[in-house]
Amino acid sequence: MDSYIPDLIWFNGSLVPWEDAKVHVWSELAIRGASVFEGIRAFWNPEEQRYYVLDLESHVRRLNESARLLKFPITTDFHTTLQAINSLLTALDLREHAYIRPTLYIDHGRYGSRAKDTLSGMHIAAFPSPHSDALYRGIRCTVSSWRRSSELNLSPRIKAGGSYMAFRLPFIEARERGFDDAILLNNRDTVSESSGAAVFVVKDSMVATPPLSAGILESITRRRIISLLHDEFFMEVQEREIVRTELYTADEVFLCGTLCEVQPVVGIDGYLPGDGMPGPLTTRCRDYYIEICESGASAPSGWLTPVEKTSSRQ
Ligand code: PMP
Repeated sequence: MDSYIPDLIWFNGSLVPWEDAKVHVWSELAIRGASVFEGIRAFWNPEEQRYYVLDLESHVRRLNESARLLKFPITTDFHTTLQAINSLLTALDLREHAYIRPTLYIDHGRYGSRAKDTLSGMHIAAFPSPHSDALYRGIRCTVSSWRRSSELNLSPRIKAGGSYMAFRLPFIEARERGFDDAILLNNRDTVSESSGAAVFVVKDSMVATPPLSAGILESITRRRIISLLHDEFFMEVQEREIVRTELYTADEVFLCGTLCEVQPVVGIDGYLPGDGMPGPLTTRCRDYYIEICESGASAPSGWLTPVEKTSSRQ
């Protein structure tokens, strides 16, 4: 995804060549990172020759919630977003799983400007996004020396472009220490989340994940995994504060998020949950989750939104 540049991007209502989607260097977007965004997955179904978008309604709702919390004078709706995704995926004709990135942003008007003095916009980009190998081999994490922000500054609930600057140093620190990703503690010294995913720990067949009050994004995948564990595996997930040493003594640790899906953590700061192998519950959750995501028309209701069928390639 890092090196791939799509030909087209959806930009304020139409598809335009990638290099023509421009905002000024002196826009609020450029100088203060005034944007909110979502990361969405679309699964290509080769039998049906169409895409299915995962949890689109929840993503549109969270995108609008982020925008409203920051008092942005722009929101979008399910239909517009679906139409935009539909036209973009059809035009790009990727025919493989894709990652879709809608962004609402402020173009003109300083941060305190009233709505009438503000220009805002929306763009949607899409990239090929196969499942990562890390789903099967697992990743190694470190507990960061940096803290996740709290409700007292830029709430973790708001998925703002600028908030992700706060993950830059944790991520670089993790890489410099030889790990794949960072898990951040919050201002109460308990576990919050990784730089792009929710954290789950399993110990003695009990599953726990930090609560929304622990400084986390209200992850859509986290909610899916809690329900999946409840409905399919008959296990209750405790939403409770988790301390650092619980990560080090867990039987299994895994991360979940739209992009990383369900990712086993096979090492944390040199400790090895599950002896350094993806654990049995993690593996079951991962396989179940991926199977539903790829099940097209037979997915349980509410998971997938079909995108109009792509006409056959010329
Ligand atoms: N936390 C952070 C900081 C994230 O960026 C993401 C990815 N959106 C997540 C958690 C997982 O959220 P979701 O399951 O909604 O993708």
